[in-house]
Amino acid sequence: MTQRFPVPGRQRLCSLTRCLLPLTFALFLLAGCQPVSAGRGSQPAGAPGLGDPNFPFLGNGGYDVEHYTLDLTVQVSDNTISGTTTLRATAIQPLSTFNLDLLGFTVDAVHVNDLPAEFSRRAHELTIAPRLRLSAGDLFTTVIRYHGRPEALADPDLAFISQGWNQRDGTIFVVSEPGGAMTWYPSNNHLSDKASYTMRVTVDAPNVVAANGVLSDTRVTGNQITYVWEMAQPMATYLAMLAIGDFVRVEGVGSEGTLIRHYFPRADAAALTANFANTGEILDFYSDLIGDYPFDEYGVVVMPFPLGFALETQTLSVFGIDVTLESVNAHELVHQWFGNSVTPAAWNETWLNEGFASYLQKLWSERDLGSELTDNGMRQYYNAMQQMKLPAPGTVGERDMFSMTVYERGAWVLHALRLELGDDLFRQILRTYYARFEGGNVTTADFIAVANEVSGRDLTGFLNGWIYSAEMPSIPE
Ligand SMILES: [Zn+2]
Repeated sequence: MTQRFPVPGRQRLCSLTRCLLPLTFALFLLAGCQPVSAGRGSQPAGAPGLGDPNFPFLGNGGYDVEHYTLDLTVQVSDNTISGTTTLRATAIQPLSTFNLDLLGFTVDAVHVNDLPAEFSRRAHELTIAPRLRLSAGDLFTTVIRYHGRPEALADPDLAFISQGWNQRDGTIFVVSEPGGAMTWYPSNNHLSDKASYTMRVTVDAPNVVAANGVLSDTRVTGNQITYVWEMAQPMATYLAMLAIGDFVRVEGVGSEGTLIRHYFPRADAAALTANFANTGEILDFYSDLIGDYPFDEYGVVVMPFPLGFALETQTLSVFGIDVTLESVNAHELVHQWFGNSVTPAAWNETWLNEGFASYLQKLWSERDLGSELTDNGMRQYYNAMQQMKLPAPGTVGERDMFSMTVYERGAWVLHALRLELGDDLFRQILRTYYARFEGGNVTTADFIAVANEVSGRDLTGFLNGWIYSAEMPSIPE
């Protein structure tokens, strides 16, 4: 994500989730549940949360989703969804019940392996009891039919963001980081359980639907159009994207053949086409630096109104019309490698997303302006951050997940490593780290291990200083 005005230590996107989750946490504690438990006795239950340090009840235990199929009919005019979500998942323990995360809606029916299943709801937890108990290793299919009017998680502290499903002036868009996916489809709503997706979205013409991956089909039935989007590579729930409105699709090609397809508001399409004309060139730059682009296609979807931020939704970054800058385009592109393909395992390590995107976005401008300018800029940040006494970026609570700490002190972790080792080794570490964890989840320890291995040195103490010490270390000579 890129925000317009990061404020040290206070910027955050998730305060409602923060309010919501402690409430559900209290309810579960009253009910005698723990976020990470395997159930009791002969009635094994999937845990209602994964115990994330910042959001213990996001996601659920006991299974691993492989694929989501979202069939949605969306009435844009009254902002309602009639949906069927089909999940193919593998049980990783015996399950007499398991949970999904879904906020709001009426759930009409649930089937597991084609048999009707009992279900109950509490806060965002949908608890499902399959008719036949699942065994560890079982591949099973769950189908949830639901309908209603989605409601975003509004954040009273930050007027510019509301998580999940949003509707404004006849345009629908989704910005879910970190917990908003449960406002529009039932899921295992945590970044550690990534899955591929099929989205079949039916709207009244002439609305256009943009989503993640590749547009594989459009079907017209009377006045309705169904758009079929396929996201073949694993994707975290917060990166699932849907935009519906009066968009124009504009195509281009990166020099390595990746199709670029942008979705622009009709009225602004000409100006935005010029604005984003070098997206393929930026994509090629990062492919050369890090490794082949992780996905099949790329593009941006720009809202016809300001958002104050952009978000790196997978293969289709979403921009407010007020942030359509080249530096932001570079930032969201870096996230396709670091954040989307290589994803932190928990929400307290967002520096692995934002530190990488913030630093590597500077390398795009460095191409024209030279490395001295990058270094000067980084030193200015260093001095400013020392004066501000910014905390360490390594493990952050909810309040600091999107703070200057993770963006700019996070970026300094990489700049310090580059100064210490030189450009060639630094680049080799980036490439090895990406290649090893492509499509998966990582921790800071994984990154440090790669740095040690590639450099042939024990950099643990050096990196720990930059990542975990309250005091910023001295700049390497
Ligand atoms: Zn970002």
